[in-house]
Amino acid sequence: MKNTITVENGTTKICNKCGRILPIEKFRLVKGQFHNPYYLGQCKECEYKYQRAYLEEKNKIRFSDDLEILIERQYKDFKRERMLNISNTDIIPLGTDEIFVKLMDYKDAWLSNYGRVVRYSGGKYNLLQGSYDNYGALFYCLRKNVFFDGKWIYRSVHLYAAKAVIEEFIVNPDKVNNVYIWHSGNDKQDCYYRNLYPLNQKQYMAVRNHFNKTGDDSEEFIIKVMNDIKYKPDNWSKRVMEPTMCGIGYHGLEGVDCTAESYLKWHDMIHRCYNAKFHKRQPQYKGCTVCEEWLNYINFKVWYDQHKIPGMSLDLDKIRTFCLKEIRYIVLKRVVLYLMQLIHCF
Ligand SMILES: [Zn+2]
Repeated sequence: MKNTITVENGTTKICNKCGRILPIEKFRLVKGQFHNPYYLGQCKECEYKYQRAYLEEKNKIRFSDDLEILIERQYKDFKRERMLNISNTDIIPLGTDEIFVKLMDYKDAWLSNYGRVVRYSGGKYNLLQGSYDNYGALFYCLRKNVFFDGKWIYRSVHLYAAKAVIEEFIVNPDKVNNVYIWHSGNDKQDCYYRNLYPLNQKQYMAVRNHFNKTGDDSEEFIIKVMNDIKYKPDNWSKRVMEPTMCGIGYHGLEGVDCTAESYLKWHDMIHRCYNAKFHKRQPQYKGCTVCEEWLNYINFKVWYDQHKIPGMSLDLDKIRTFCLKEIRYIVLKRVVLYLMQLIHCF
């Protein structure tokens, strides 16, 4: 038998870790290189202890030495026109900072930064009750405006509170990968925007494991996790954050297809808003800005691919028309609604 430096006495064996003499069944029987069975030198208890220590060490959060904070927490700004004036209703705000913002795609619905939804029906503004799914996530049943069979219709859908709050109130640095939501204190019922963090799977696991072990999920800690290369997607590098487009727009991820339709639209949009040479020829674009989230091409791409309708041109230039309040015939109503929200002209 291999590894038999220890003295074996009938059905007992000495553990080479703790030194105890133990019945043989306290050791794990394994198969060797040539399928020869043998007992491990350490007892099952020591083996388990070692494995636990190993896993703890492995899962311990250690940030990279050259950790650089490139991404900070950022919140979205709103135009006044999108906010609901609740002073004329009987809704009592949950906090002095609670605001209700019009949901672009939904029929007569406003979402608050606390995750509450108000709907206008029967001549009244009503707070919706919402329901919880099997995972404890809060959602509301609303009517969404969708393009179906060549026309715009309303369809009943579930709006998840936490997801919607992130979408409306928080700048998500990576909409492709950050599809997990960490709630402060792991309290799934808390949908207050400052307590929600859009994270990728690796970041989410790191935060959750650390929180389970230490009880700490401070914003400072989460921001470090968000910025550490260890928890970034494989196709991320510091280089993708460099503002190569007009000194402000950046790719967001490696391997971007610069011939894609969405890329060309993004390129044009950034140039119209930030290229000084372009402004000499077309001064009306001066002072136009692109929202923070869309400075990252990959975020723009997510939106573009979701909203383009095959066979129809999605003309971003309509934004100018809109901003100058020369509203003419607009093919894609929804695009304009989005642009109204995301691109601010002064
Ligand atoms: Zn032992």
